[in-house]
Amino acid sequence: MSNPIRILSDHLVNQIAAGEVVERPASVIKELIENSLDAGCARLEIDVDQGGIKRLRVRDDGCGIPRDQLALALARHATSKLAVPADLEAVGTLGFRGEALPSIASVSRLTLTSRVGPDSEAEASEVASDRAGDSAWEVAVAIDGRLEGPRPAAHPPGTSVEVRDLFFNTPARRKFLRTEKTEFDHVDQVVRRLALARPDVALELRHNGRVVHQLPAADGRPESVLARLDRLLGAGFAEQSLEIDASAVDLRLHGWIRRPAFSRSQPDQQFFYVNGRLIRDRLITHAIRQAFSDFLHQARHPGYVLFLELPPRLVDVNVHPAKHEVRFRESRQVHDFIRRALQRRLAQGVLGGAEPDAP
Ligand code: ADP
Ligand code: MG
Repeated sequence: MSNPIRILSDHLVNQIAAGEVVERPASVIKELIENSLDAGCARLEIDVDQGGIKRLRVRDDGCGIPRDQLALALARHATSKLAVPADLEAVGTLGFRGEALPSIASVSRLTLTSRVGPDSEAEASEVASDRAGDSAWEVAVAIDGRLEGPRPAAHPPGTSVEVRDLFFNTPARRKFLRTEKTEFDHVDQVVRRLALARPDVALELRHNGRVVHQLPAADGRPESVLARLDRLLGAGFAEQSLEIDASAVDLRLHGWIRRPAFSRSQPDQQFFYVNGRLIRDRLITHAIRQAFSDFLHQARHPGYVLFLELPPRLVDVNVHPAKHEVRFRESRQVHDFIRRALQRRLAQGVLGGAEPDAP
């Protein structure tokens, strides 16, 4: 006799989804920072205790969430980033699936505190009958998954998400967490990747109360961006690198590649972003390898921080819940563009020579 078929409870569905996006504290940090960046923040404060296993918190000064939408933010498949089906064809934000917050909330003790900023205040109070922007509000998820609040809270304009006791209710997942140090290393990696992509956002990371990174926002001068690169990748990165900026019809590639003489023995400085999103893609790795092949010994690894920008409709980011993968509509064209752009820059930078040819 088989068991009857049942529709799973929301709580269980969220926990299953959490299996895909919430692997460890670092994945929580990534989702929370991405939300803050999508909210247009200028400043991020990240606090982590005991590798993030005990507690982590991301605070931003972004647009905030009005009181009457706090519960929705924690509901499954609820997002402000997609409105109509066509939006999925051209995603311009880091998030869009509306599942990070409910997934995280289903495997931790989560508190969401927010206050809408002065700009969105007028808008918000038109929607909500009470003056939503007057103060901060907070919702918390109780152990049984039910929502507590909204209750008044103290918070400047912006949003904080605090996550305590990750996997307290899923012992099987908790077992896979490593030491505090290892978990923090992963958190640090995630923070560094996002900090490289967004030098315009000020960022502070603390672990057990100790400041690990304190990065001012770049002010538009190239030196201020280079200063951040040096802080994150080691002093001398800027000096040892070639800047690149190449465009073709719909594609632009810009960033920095280490001069081959300063290549690495490990592939530990390879950051490739597509429309601001760090991705790992075999096609792109291959294109870069090929470009470097004339300049680099097989056993050495190129170092780079590269940003590819293209119209969102030419790239599908909805490949995997964790969004590390993308699919290009014209993958051959993207591959060849990257290879050629890098080859030209390397030839010019290493061998000397004239300005690169127009594409
Ligand atoms: P997604 O990012 O895919 O939309 P999430 O579950 O991560 O899904 O977040 C749900 C919604 O909550 C977002 O669409 C956004 O409207 C709101 N939200 C989450 N974090 C923030 C934040 N830091 N600032 C403002 N709004 C936020
Ligand atoms: Mg999100």
